[in-house]
Amino acid sequence: MKALEEKILKEGKVLPGNVLKVGSFLNQQMDSDFIMEIGNEIARLFAGEKITKVLTVESSGIALAVAAGIALHVPSVFAKKHKSANMSKEVYTAAVYSYTHKETYEIAVAKEYLEKDDVVLIVDDFLANGNAVRGLMKIVEEAGAGLCGCAIAIEKGFQGAGDELRAQGIRIESLAIVDSMTDESVTFRA
Ligand code: 5GP
Repeated sequence: MKALEEKILKEGKVLPGNVLKVGSFLNQQMDSDFIMEIGNEIARLFAGEKITKVLTVESSGIALAVAAGIALHVPSVFAKKHKSANMSKEVYTAAVYSYTHKETYEIAVAKEYLEKDDVVLIVDDFLANGNAVRGLMKIVEEAGAGLCGCAIAIEKGFQGAGDELRAQGIRIESLAIVDSMTDESVTFRA
């Protein structure tokens, strides 16, 4: 998505530890029209699928999941994050190591919001080492639901998880794939 690459080049900041900051339009302040453009693009890419639910993890995936859900006319669900194990029988859970916070937390989705006959599209803002997406995939599997793929705004291609998941046969659609980034430049996969 050319417009996303341009926005990253104009407004993104590379922080130490290979973290790309996009707080001005995606992660803290949200550019409403642009978020909806991303939602529409995700809906266009997955138009052939019979998606019944969009799934993400709080908090930074929520805006994009809602936009995709609006464009696809389906509900969006977000997994909640907890620091410690939640043993409730009412939730599906997965352990996720956070790339940005350097700690493991548990994500949980209430069982009533994911059912066997759901066809799920996972949406997130970033794909780095793939832990968040893999945690969400585990939850979809536990629910016995179908997974039609993952839509990611920004994949950090140099961290490899996107290609690993593709090699496993998972459909990963990333709207911008960063090949490399330094303080001075960000380059995208052609
Ligand atoms: P992963 O689990 O794939 O390693 O990392 C994905 C999660 O970490 C995303 O949900 C995102 O919130 C966060 N993340 C990973 N890399 C970055 C980054 O470069 N910038 C920002 N803002 N978030 C990131």
